[in-house]
Amino acid sequence: MNYTNQIQEIAAKLFAEGKIDVFVGYRMNGFDDNQVPVLITGPQDVSKLVFTDKSVFNLVNYLKTDHTRKKRVGLVVKGCDSRALNLMLTEKQVKRENLYVVGICCEGVVDDAGQKMQNCLECIVPEAVVYDELLGTAGKAETRAYKVNVDIAALAEKPLTERAAYFEEVFENCIRCNACRHSCPLCYCAKCCIDQETAALYNGANTTSAAFHALMTWSLHLAGRCVDCRNCEKACPSHLPLHLLHKQNESVIYENFQEHLAGVIPDDRGAFYKYSLKDPDDFIM
Ligand code: SF4
Ligand code: SF4
Ligand code: SF4
Ligand code: SF4
Repeated sequence: MNYTNQIQEIAAKLFAEGKIDVFVGYRMNGFDDNQVPVLITGPQDVSKLVFTDKSVFNLVNYLKTDHTRKKRVGLVVKGCDSRALNLMLTEKQVKRENLYVVGICCEGVVDDAGQKMQNCLECIVPEAVVYDELLGTAGKAETRAYKVNVDIAALAEKPLTERAAYFEEVFENCIRCNACRHSCPLCYCAKCCIDQETAALYNGANTTSAAFHALMTWSLHLAGRCVDCRNCEKACPSHLPLHLLHKQNESVIYENFQEHLAGVIPDDRGAFYKYSLKDPDDFIM
């Protein structure tokens, strides 16, 4: 998967035609073969843009910053990223007319060791669902049915005490840095209720119990909204398996809320707006 040339050409054309103020893409990080997001403000820097299976980050996260707010923005989205964009549009956080979206028919991205990422192995929406221009061949990706995440299925096999001990260790290693929240495109609240400095509920304390409450609150705010891009996990300095929280919520919601998957359908307001008398109602989140 390499769309570097096409993306450079598209960005150059958009700047030449005066259609965008900024283009959000990927560039090489400058010291190994990994990439970082880049915000380009003019044609002189278009040659920095790249796109390969190392273009791992969800660029939609940059639509919530002052660098892009109230500007005309070009950006690149893979399938998972585009689902986050759909939610940002539905939740009125961005205006569609201010965006030029380059969608990718994604073949999956790889980690630092070159292995395809787990979310890509399980991905059922690899093609961008919102775009102005689509790169790649639509319909080429393998069609998969929704399956419960492999780690969630493995945890479900374990006794409750073992699961509890595992999660206690996970929460113990959280340093309350909030990088997970900041890296999530769908965490855009101006004042977050779990902010370490302001939240009375969590006392600003860096304790296991405060981390537990903060991460559980956070994951519930993403329930029915998380698109499994794993931006949060990539940002976590403690390398915590944050997908376990989100994928557990996702599978419960999929099963109980009419097979809801976040951001796949434009203007879909989310699982909790989908109340139906036919819902089984036999679970507690
Ligand atoms: S989760 Fe899907 S859309 Fe996202 S990077 Fe992986 S394969 Fe691509
Ligand atoms: S919670 Fe993590 S995986 Fe889910 S949308 Fe936010 S950044 Fe992506
Ligand atoms: S955790 Fe909740 S309150 Fe905080 S930014 Fe995310 S959605 Fe908003
Ligand atoms: S990024 Fe990791 S260490 Fe930081 S608050 Fe989130 S889970 Fe905790």
